[in-house]
Parts: sequence; C-alpha cells; structure tokens
Amino acid sequence: MEKILDGKALAKKIRENLKNEVLELNRKNIFPKLAVIMIGNDASSAIYVKNKSKVAEEIGIKYEEHLLAENTKMDELLNLINELNNSKDIHGILVQSPIPNGLDINEAIKAISPTKDVDGFHPINVGKLALNQDCFVSCTPYGIIKLLEEYNISVEGKHAVVVGRSNIVGKPMMLALLNKNATVTVCHSKTKNLPEITKQADILICAIGKSKFITKEMVKTNAVVIDVGINRGEDGKVTGDVDFEGVYEKASYITPVPGGIGPMTIAMLMNNVVKATKSM
Ligand code: NDP
Repeated sequence: MEKILDGKALAKKIRENLKNEVLELNRKNIFPKLAVIMIGNDASSAIYVKNKSKVAEEIGIKYEEHLLAENTKMDELLNLINELNNSKDIHGILVQSPIPNGLDINEAIKAISPTKDVDGFHPINVGKLALNQDCFVSCTPYGIIKLLEEYNISVEGKHAVVVGRSNIVGKPMMLALLNKNATVTVCHSKTKNLPEITKQADILICAIGKSKFITKEMVKTNAVVIDVGINRGEDGKVTGDVDFEGVYEKASYITPVPGGIGPMTIAMLMNNVVKATKSM
C-alpha cells in the first residue's frame, strides 16, 4: 500500500480548481488580489514570499508586494494595513512573519480586517474556529485537514496528538481536529514524558521546528504521521521534524518533507483568497 500522503499532488489539484474559479470570477469582472507585507530582510521569509507570488501568478490571483524597511515604525505599518483594508481591489492581506523586533505582530494581525485575513490569524477568525463557525482557517492546519480528507482518513474518535502549540499551527490544528471529533492532546516544550504521549497517537502531527526529532520509538504502529517541520540544514537541505526513514516502516501513512504540508499550506492560502473575494 502506498503510505505517502502526497501533499504536492493534492496541492496541484487544488490549484487547478482554483484557476478555474478565478477564471469564472474574471468573467464577472472580479479580479482576486492578495497583498503581502514583508518587513526587513529575513532570508527564509523572502523564499516563502517568492513561492506565494509564483503560486498566485499560476492561479491568476493578482499579487501586490509591500517591502518595508527594517526600521519601519509601527504606525507606518498600521497605516499601510488600513489603506489595504479600505482598498476595494484588495481581497486578502497578510503580514509575513517574522517581523523585526520592536514591531508588534499581534497588533499588526489585529489591524487586518477579519474579512481579508486570509492567513486566519486574526482573533476573530481564531475565535470563530474555536466556536466551529465558518471562518478563515489558518492555512497549514486547513491543508492538513484537506489532505486527510483526500485519503479518506477519518479523524472522528481517533486520538490525535499535536506536538507544538504555536498560534499559527499547533493551536488552530487542535481546534480543527476537535471540530472533526478527534480526541486531541497538545504537547509542547514543557510536556513531560513526550514519547509516552506520542506513542498513543492514532494521528500524530508534528510542528516543532527540530530536524528529525520524532523517531520511530515515539510512534505507534500504523499511526498516521503528519510532518509540518521545515528545517533548513547548513547544507541547504530541508528536513522535517520526523525521522522519515525510521518512522516510514511503522506508520500507516506519512507526509514527506519537502512535498507534504508545505505545498498544501500555500494552496490553502490561495483558496482563502478566492473565498475572501467571493464573500466581498
Ligand atoms: P514555533 O517555534 O512557533 O513553535 C514550536 C512549538 O514546538 C512550540 O509550541 C514549542 O513549545 C514546541 N517545541 C519546541 N521544542 C519542543 C520539544 N523538545 N518538545 C515538545 N515540543 C517542543 O514554530 P511553528 O509552529 O511556527 O513552526 C513549527 C515548524 O513548522 C517549523 O519548522 C516551521 O518552519 C514549520 N512550518 C511549516 C509550515 C508549512 O507550510 N509546512 C508552516 C508553518 C510552520 P513551547 O510552546 O513550549 O515553546
């Protein structure tokens, strides 16, 4: 049986569908547009932003990049967000993380109109997710749910263990799984006896940011293993949070890095831009 959850292939399919949806909107003279704000010169961010622009272009989503200097002031950033909120041409806004010290990312996210918050990070959208209401869902957890659905992997009644509790991955993942009736455990750096907990997981989702941290000893036989991690080694090679070679034998399904959750995340971002456009 094929064990690989092919995020790359599903993301391609989603992009194809979105392309048609965008053409449909274009016929009605509606042109979905995403505005991306990047501040400073973070090398990883520059790669992510470039990938997003490439995918937007492929789908036919218009793309506007705002590159701000490292020493940008908070009120300048808030003014720009406000301008974009008020622009009828812009349907989605995101601020690429990390932003320089001295700027408050929470304030920036809060300033984005919840109806244009295609990253799903605004407190209103996170709150709605907690209440299981229609909202913009954070793109990585949303992509993971879509990938599980594609392979008919039901999460209902399963024990899902999420390792990592960040606002952008771990916490919304917990909520999205709970909304699908999984029994969810969330682990983090203060968790005691982590392997004892991960070994109980029917579905194990790892978003830690530590290369090959999850080894086969930490995984139950036949578990579904989702690797969110993107860890760039000194050699430039990208690895996940899971020791893929070791865990592959034990898992029933596993996502590769690269080619798993990364492409799904960008596809779901574009999905959210189209959703935002349709609801304007
Ligand atoms: P953060 O650094 O914000 O969060 C990491 C989480 O892992 C924290 O909750 C932290 O715990 C926990 N953690 C760290 N060390 C341990 C440990 N030894 N044991 C248990 N838990 C631990 O990272 P993100 O959530 O932003 O990202 C996680 C990874 O996913 C990164 O590699 C990132 O690059 C990648 N990523 C990939 C995406 C994709 O598209 N594929 C999208 C977003 C992120 P604590 O809260 O206690 O500090």
